[in-house]
Amino acid sequence: MPPEVPPFLIRAEGLSREFELPGGGIFSRKRRLEAVSEVSFSIGRQEVLGLVGESGSGKTTIGRMVMRLLPPTRGRILLDGVDLTSLSGRALRAQRRRFQMVFQDPYASLNPRMRVREIVEEPLVVHGIDPDAGSRRDRVARLLERVGLSSRDMERFPREFSGGGRQRIGIARAIACGPELLVADEPIASLDLSMGAQIINLFSSLVDSEAMSLLFISHDIPMVRYLSDRVAVLYRGKIVESGPAEAVLDDPQHPYTRLLAEGRLPESDGASSPGAEGEPSGLCAFLPRCDRALPECRLSPPPRLSRGEVREVLCHLPKGESSWSPVHLTTQGSPSHVPATPSR
Ligand code: SF4
Repeated sequence: MPPEVPPFLIRAEGLSREFELPGGGIFSRKRRLEAVSEVSFSIGRQEVLGLVGESGSGKTTIGRMVMRLLPPTRGRILLDGVDLTSLSGRALRAQRRRFQMVFQDPYASLNPRMRVREIVEEPLVVHGIDPDAGSRRDRVARLLERVGLSSRDMERFPREFSGGGRQRIGIARAIACGPELLVADEPIASLDLSMGAQIINLFSSLVDSEAMSLLFISHDIPMVRYLSDRVAVLYRGKIVESGPAEAVLDDPQHPYTRLLAEGRLPESDGASSPGAEGEPSGLCAFLPRCDRALPECRLSPPPRLSRGEVREVLCHLPKGESSWSPVHLTTQGSPSHVPATPSR
């Protein structure tokens, strides 16, 4: 019998990440900050998951853990059933071509001394794809054209391009080895509106034409709504709501999601960062900012509730509604159901 194919491409189970903060004096003990706490999600094949939240909410830390640039303190990441967190050395390098990253600042992530051709072909050389220089050059030309650049751009340097052009070079490099998963961390944050929209359209077409899945990390709610099949809303390192993008953003259940969806949050006031002032221990982290808090919010932690197999929320508010029921966690701390892979 052929091996069973998992119904998702990637699955994060109970991911947590702690950082050590310096103490206040030479005799004071170091503090531990939990930047990401028990986060679980899955991404289907050719699915786009939008990860949203304010600056400091833990989005980038999650992206870096998925990319194995940062080890999780607890939890695991399964790619097609392979536990990436248990791999190192050659075994990890063999998997790396399957997941690639697009960074926020395209200029900082491109070596200014390298020509575009060298930048895009570097991962092909590292992974031993296309050892023939001539055919590698042809492949680079096709990649540049695929991302909206020209093969004539090959011998130019990154500084000769606009921000959007540089981001296209970064995307060409990221897709060079034919990854199955792309992690894009705030890829349009440094671009103007029109250029950002072009890059979003490029991601959308790549997901279809290259049969990729995408973890799209952003605080730009309109773009997340446009591009994502599902969204996960992060607050102080925890997913507080998740589900189909339109359903969550048009009918938010968590008061924090509501503020995000209505664009009523300041760009960043640091209040979303773990350890911010006023954080109640054990209780809902949003309690100090919540205008809909119930008496039980001051007595017990919020329950994780689900509606069907696609919506989840971490909040007391929908508890009394019959359509919402408690989520049962597996031993790894992930929800017991797996969202269906969308048909795009
Ligand atoms: Fe507000 Fe209570 Fe829900 Fe927290 S659990 S978001 S305090 S209603």
